[in-house]
Amino acid sequence: MSDLDTLFERIARGEIPSYRVYEDEHIFAFLDINPLSRGHTLVIPRVRYERLEELPEEVGAALGRALPRIAAAVIRATGAPAYNVLQNNGRGAGQAIPHVHFHIIPRYADGSGLPHHWPARTLDKSEAPQLAQRIAGFLA
Ligand code: AMP
Repeated sequence: MSDLDTLFERIARGEIPSYRVYEDEHIFAFLDINPLSRGHTLVIPRVRYERLEELPEEVGAALGRALPRIAAAVIRATGAPAYNVLQNNGRGAGQAIPHVHFHIIPRYADGSGLPHHWPARTLDKSEAPQLAQRIAGFLA
C-alpha cells in the first residue's frame, strides 16, 4: 500500500493537516491543496473505497446527503455563480488518489474552474435499446 492510498484516510483522521470544511460519522470535506479555482473542495468517505461502484449503500447515502449541503456552503462562501461536481474513477479517467472523492469546483466569470471541454457525439440509435437494456439488466 502506497502513501497515496492512505493519504485521504489520514487526512480524515487528522493525522495530516487539511483545511476542513465539514465532517460527520461517514464524511469528511476539505479544501483541495491545488485548487482549480477558489473554494475547490473535496468530499470523501472517511473509509477508503477506491471507486464509486464499491461504496456500500450506507456510505453512498451519506455522501448523497452531504454533497448538496457542502455545495451550497461553498457557493455561499465564495459567491461563485456556478460550479461543477466531478468524480474520477480509475487512472484512465484521471483519478490520482485511489480513494473516492467528489470535487466541488466553483466556476467564475474569469473562466477559472473546471476546463469546459465536452466533445459530445451522437447516440448510436441502432445500439441504444440493447445497451440500455443491458445496463438495466445489471440493475435488476
Ligand atoms: P483526482 O485527480 O480526482 O484523484 O484528484 C486528487 C485531488 O487531490 C487533486 O485535485 C489534488 O490537488 C488533491 N490533493 C492531493 N493531495 C492533497 C492534500 N494533501 N490535501 C488536499 N488536497 C490534496
